[in-house]
Amino acid sequence: MTLPAPSVCPCGGSPTALKAKGAEAIYAHCCGRFIDQGQLPPDALHLMRSRYTAFVLENEAYLKHTWQEAVRPQQLEFDTGAKWLGLDIKDFVSTGLQEGHQTAEVEFVARVRVGGRANRLHERSRFVCEDGQWLYVQAV
Ligand SMILES: [Zn+2]
Repeated sequence: MTLPAPSVCPCGGSPTALKAKGAEAIYAHCCGRFIDQGQLPPDALHLMRSRYTAFVLENEAYLKHTWQEAVRPQQLEFDTGAKWLGLDIKDFVSTGLQEGHQTAEVEFVARVRVGGRANRLHERSRFVCEDGQWLYVQAV
């Protein structure tokens, strides 16, 4: 089960998203385009943001759909009661072509509160673009 779509995007808004300064990113114009409307994220950064948002919304189908097939888990588990507090992108680089596919890395910190305890999830992730669809591969 997926949580209901929010009006404000949990990812905090892409720096390239059209939004007034200080305004909140509208979900439907931010990650909702990719999660609900089937648009393809233009790069690994937008895919990363949409996957964070999908985690917040517990959207297992989207997370699996955007996971490279060879390494995709059968099932995902969400921490019950987890409250996601925000996403900070630390780095985003293209890592060139590998076996004919574009690749990229994104480093991020996601903050989450579980059972009253705040945690930081710090990861540098590898992505690959297959047939126009950016996919999460694994942590570097
Ligand atoms: Zn977003």
